[in-house]
Amino acid sequence: MSTQPSSSPVASSLQASGADAVPGSRVAERFETVVIGGGQAGLAVGYHLARRGLPFVIFDAHARVADSWRGRWVSLRLFTPAHYDGLPGMPFPATAHAFPTKDEMADYLESYAARFELPVRTGIMVDRLSKQGGQFVLTAGDRDFEAQNVVVAMSNWQRPRIPSFAQDLDPGIVQLHSSAYRHPAQLRDGGVLVVGAANSGAEIALEVAHQQRVWLSGRDTGAVPFRIDSRVAQLFLVPVVLRVLFHRVLTIDTPIGRKLRPKLLSHSMPLLRVRRQDLASAGVERVPRVVAVRQGRPVLEDERALDVANVIWCTGFEPGFSWIDLPIFGSGELMHHRGIVASEPGLHFVGLTFLYAASSSMIHGVGRDAEYAAKSIASVSRAGQREPNVRSSRAKLLQRVIRAGV
Ligand SMILES: Cc1cc2nc3c(=O)[nH]c(=O)nc-3n(C[C@H](O)[C@H](O)[C@H](O)COP(=O)(O)OP(=O)(O)OC[C@H]3O[C@@H](n4cnc5c(N)ncnc54)[C@H](O)[C@@H]3O)c2cc1C
Repeated sequence: MSTQPSSSPVASSLQASGADAVPGSRVAERFETVVIGGGQAGLAVGYHLARRGLPFVIFDAHARVADSWRGRWVSLRLFTPAHYDGLPGMPFPATAHAFPTKDEMADYLESYAARFELPVRTGIMVDRLSKQGGQFVLTAGDRDFEAQNVVVAMSNWQRPRIPSFAQDLDPGIVQLHSSAYRHPAQLRDGGVLVVGAANSGAEIALEVAHQQRVWLSGRDTGAVPFRIDSRVAQLFLVPVVLRVLFHRVLTIDTPIGRKLRPKLLSHSMPLLRVRRQDLASAGVERVPRVVAVRQGRPVLEDERALDVANVIWCTGFEPGFSWIDLPIFGSGELMHHRGIVASEPGLHFVGLTFLYAASSSMIHGVGRDAEYAAKSIASVSRAGQREPNVRSSRAKLLQRVIRAGV
């Protein structure tokens, strides 16, 4: 959904609060709040801002809301059941124990944005965020925007991480990052090395092993000790892990949460769906880490060079925040408390791994952090200080939708 300020009377009254036209200079559109990112994190923030009658716009680099889900591999199903895949105000439309496909998730997010008329402007990639004279300045190509508040709403998984020696692989080897992998037909015959043995690597290795020989390289991350689709998991274990452990117990407010946070930030999650025995029965061969490239071939920690026609890098992502030109990163780490950056008043983050809790980057957990950011914006916003009876038409609309039994 692409909502230009002029495309809807509701949106136009709430989005841009003005534009500066200095002759001969670029025109900057002004907003009270800009949310950068229109995935689940940005939409949840939008929902909570709208509920408070606060004006805002959401920018997303993709062509369509939720394209980050659409772009994932074709066979991907969520590891969280539908009961835990809804954002605030709108449950996921499926039976509680179903595991949605990635396209069902994308469609859900798109209909969420439409249902609450969230003002998402797609195709806007913010390439610089800075501050001038107390205002945030956002640049997207040849367009400039100003805002009093900015919410950077996205997961840590924005830029593929690939080891630098990948460029030395023989050009005849097909190499892809997991973010570019869609289905086995993209690969050549001649064997596949999947590098990285966490959830993405294990799921892709298993899928590809139905077609050709597969080596899975990397540290064994362990596996949850139950099948996530078993009855006992659905009725008891999944709720305990997701709602109790990840959402309530492992937070920055508990000693155990603070103790485990660094580990959870630096380690991959255990395997959730694929079991070690699934990989073994499909003929996937576990091998050590890939440490170099020699004569165009990938080399393992045990010095073996593998003769493969394909390499799939399931080596993770980086946040890729180089476009943020603000002094908010201390030795690479974002300095914040629950997503609020005290050194840059008005700047918030939502969606990052363990921002507040182990559930912060997950669908069922992001709403709480989104509400926290919206409350913080409301507390300093002029709009937030208005009397409730002069709330904007967007807030009234949203409340009507909610009352209508969402
Ligand atoms: C393979 C995989 C499977 C997952 N499965 C589950 C699951 O089953 N259950 C679960 O709870 N979680 C799951 N997650 C975790 C999480 O729910 C997803 O990663 C989810 O997509 C995160 O949503 P988000 O909105 O925080 O960030 P993203 O989905 O990454 O969306 C961020 C948006 O911001 C936009 N953006 C980024 N930079 C800019 C910029 N500079 N300017 C403008 N726009 C920008 C991007 O275009 C993107 O649309 C999974 C993650 C992965 C990688």
